[in-house]
Amino acid sequence: MTEAAPHSTLPYPPIHKDKKFVVLSDWDGTITTQDSNDYMTDNYGYGKAKRREGNMEVLSGRTTFRDSFREMLESVSKNGHTFDDCKEILKKNMKLDSGFKDFYRWCSSHDIPVIIVSSGMDPLIRAVLSSLLGDEDAKNIEIISNDVEIEPDGKWSIKYRHPSSGFGHDKSQAILPYRDLPDPPTLFFFGDGVSDMSAASHADVLFVKLKEDGESDLATYCRHEGIPHIEFRNFSSALAVVQKVVSGEKSVQEAMQLGNAEKLFN
Ligand SMILES: [Mg+2]
Repeated sequence: MTEAAPHSTLPYPPIHKDKKFVVLSDWDGTITTQDSNDYMTDNYGYGKAKRREGNMEVLSGRTTFRDSFREMLESVSKNGHTFDDCKEILKKNMKLDSGFKDFYRWCSSHDIPVIIVSSGMDPLIRAVLSSLLGDEDAKNIEIISNDVEIEPDGKWSIKYRHPSSGFGHDKSQAILPYRDLPDPPTLFFFGDGVSDMSAASHADVLFVKLKEDGESDLATYCRHEGIPHIEFRNFSSALAVVQKVVSGEKSVQEAMQLGNAEKLFN
């Protein structure tokens, strides 16, 4: 951990000390095709226009992700939707990236841990995972995320892992301990949005998801900041790049020079 590490209100799973490769991935809009919190806000909270305004405020640095995200979720709770309602709605409406199952199974069979690093709330992620990936995998997969606080009257709000950080959950704190290991693994990070900005520059290989709807805020950020990354649309093409690095056919640098995972295929 660095000196500036924010205090964590939630535990971390032990780090994988003896692995050669570790995958860390955002959940919403990266492993799933749609961001579940955006979905709730757009359809059950204050709506898409206001949400996008908030996203742009975060991208431009005028507000923090923490404060903007809390307001988004509050708008859902204030409209009378219980946390259990949200679970059921998301189980019905969220879908996995069509390449993720194969990606996850390939990593598992090659001794590569896949850790979900999310700004979402743990119980919602597990509920959706159970219905999409099966109970067994949903139980075993590691999740480093935020949590929820539910009051006796049913009102709920997000419980941030790092309340003192403008990110609410500073995702870099899931990556940095690996950097301090005597023999650090090669770290792959996957993300798509503003909540991944805190992690973006700390991975060895950064994959940035391009979305059909054009809401590729992490890509915008990385291009603007000049952060090297590989853009991808689907975990199938990302897997092909990961396989090249794991087999040693491509160095990390060569992989990063691709810039886009689809370049492997043409
Ligand atoms: Mg996301």
